[in-house]
Amino acid sequence: MGIQVLIVGAGPSGLALALFLKKQGINLRIVDKNSGPGTASRAIIIHARTLEFYRQIGLADEIVRKGIKVDCANLYKDGNVIISLKLGDIGADLSPYPFLLSFPQDDHEQYLTQQLAALGVHVEWDTELVKVKNTDEGVDASLKTVNGIEICQCRYLCGCDGAHSIVRQQLGIDFPGGTYDEKFYVADVDVVQKETKQGVNLCFDNNNFCVLMPVRQSGTHRLIGIMLPDGNSFDDVKMSSEAHLNVKMRTVNWFSIYRVHHRVANSFRVKSAFLLGDAGHIHSPTGGQGMNTGIGDAVNLAWKLAAVLHKKASEKLLDTYELERIKFARKLVKTTDRLFQFMTGKSFFNQFCRRFLFVPLFSVVTRFQRVRQVAFYTVSQIGLNYRHKKFLICEKSVQEGDRLPWVTFKDGDNFLSLQNLNWQLHIYGLAQDQLYDISTSRGFVLNVFPWNEQAQKRGLKKDTLYLIRPDGYVAFISRDQDIKNLDFYLNKEGIKTFIAKA
Ligand SMILES: Cc1cc2nc3c(=O)[nH]c(=O)nc-3n(C[C@H](O)[C@H](O)[C@H](O)COP(=O)(O)OP(=O)(O)OC[C@H]3O[C@@H](n4cnc5c(N)ncnc54)[C@H](O)[C@@H]3O)c2cc1C
Repeated sequence: MGIQVLIVGAGPSGLALALFLKKQGINLRIVDKNSGPGTASRAIIIHARTLEFYRQIGLADEIVRKGIKVDCANLYKDGNVIISLKLGDIGADLSPYPFLLSFPQDDHEQYLTQQLAALGVHVEWDTELVKVKNTDEGVDASLKTVNGIEICQCRYLCGCDGAHSIVRQQLGIDFPGGTYDEKFYVADVDVVQKETKQGVNLCFDNNNFCVLMPVRQSGTHRLIGIMLPDGNSFDDVKMSSEAHLNVKMRTVNWFSIYRVHHRVANSFRVKSAFLLGDAGHIHSPTGGQGMNTGIGDAVNLAWKLAAVLHKKASEKLLDTYELERIKFARKLVKTTDRLFQFMTGKSFFNQFCRRFLFVPLFSVVTRFQRVRQVAFYTVSQIGLNYRHKKFLICEKSVQEGDRLPWVTFKDGDNFLSLQNLNWQLHIYGLAQDQLYDISTSRGFVLNVFPWNEQAQKRGLKKDTLYLIRPDGYVAFISRDQDIKNLDFYLNKEGIKTFIAKA
């Protein structure tokens, strides 16, 4: 067999997958039919959960430095701000990255491409996947380059090739869903009004909405809205959005009109091939979830592929990729669909909601910190979990499948121990001696943190054993630090041993 993993598509999902696999010592190739990285800003918001993942491979701090923290959201009516919501560190206490970060997709892709090159992996541009022969044992992928067709043999193929995915088509996977009637426009513009610089500026009226927010440190802003049915150029939206948001727009750097789809692939895996990112799910850009979800797919799959390829886990671990990610993708499509209908729907009900409910709702979020935190918890994806069991709604304690909550101490935080892609054990309180012995003999990391009020507030239990997966989710919990039960869990899940430090 040739290489271990072939990644098709060097968008955010493919690049993130390549980085996380390479960091775990996997031999891979990444190809893209384009001649170089994308040049349009497209997705601009990087959410807290994505930054937490990037922190695991040492990229978060630099990305935060390059981006812009979105510090407020202003709701406009007839050119005047009627409510202003302070965003700033809206998720303080919940994440080391308690904000929304604006960082345009083209800069983001450039950055990931450079980081990958520094690890010795170079994206193979002008290389198009045209055919897939997929078996349980591996994949023969036909790649078209200027030199003709090459057959690339790989153990696993990852389709990160976007909404029109050829991988998905070749695997015969359906992509059910639909297309919204409305046409979206997106423009990157230079604006004159200074006080809008750091904020998201929103404006709704009965028939339309538009949003303006900062994209680049150079001052460029992103304008998004719904195109009038007979409109087709920036001039068709310039005057109305300037009036609604009380700004003057100068140069237009990029303008595009597109239709939004809402679809989820029927399956994310067939034999040795997987779908990630837009290849598996697309939805309205409401909430800026698309790119972040693709990166989340990549992180979820990377450690599983690495474990299986390093023979640290059985193949059945790979089945959990679809199980965990398709559930979230379906939920996301439903939620963004509802939000999209609320923002654009023409029905009497939707117009009524926009007219009479949106402003009160917005002001509730503005006033109550708890509500702001719940909103952050959802939008930033830190609330995403992979729970398999059903729990009572009032269950507040951390459960198997939850993201490990972030807890701070006098000299740091518990996420410092996650700056790698290892399995590890966490105890908040006291660890029994047998745990120290076992961690030494088996060569995995045991992290013992002092018990504190914040740990309790976040739902952790004192002196309880938490097994943490390489992506920072809680895999197994034992209240009495029971090693036999831990072994039973690992055997049941087919995890043979812990992943050695990359
Ligand atoms: C105009 C626009 C605005 C958007 N705005 C937002 C936003 O505000 N917020 C948000 O979250 N999302 C937004 N999105 C969506 C966001 O850009 C996507 O969710 C994100 O790009 C998905 O990343 P990906 O890596 O999965 O796929 P893509 O970025 O689509 O990358 C796929 C890559 O695969 C390559 N490829 C395709 N076929 C082949 C092949 N056969 N062989 C080799 N390579 C191939 C392509 O060249 C491409 O580089 C926007 C999208 C568009 C188009």
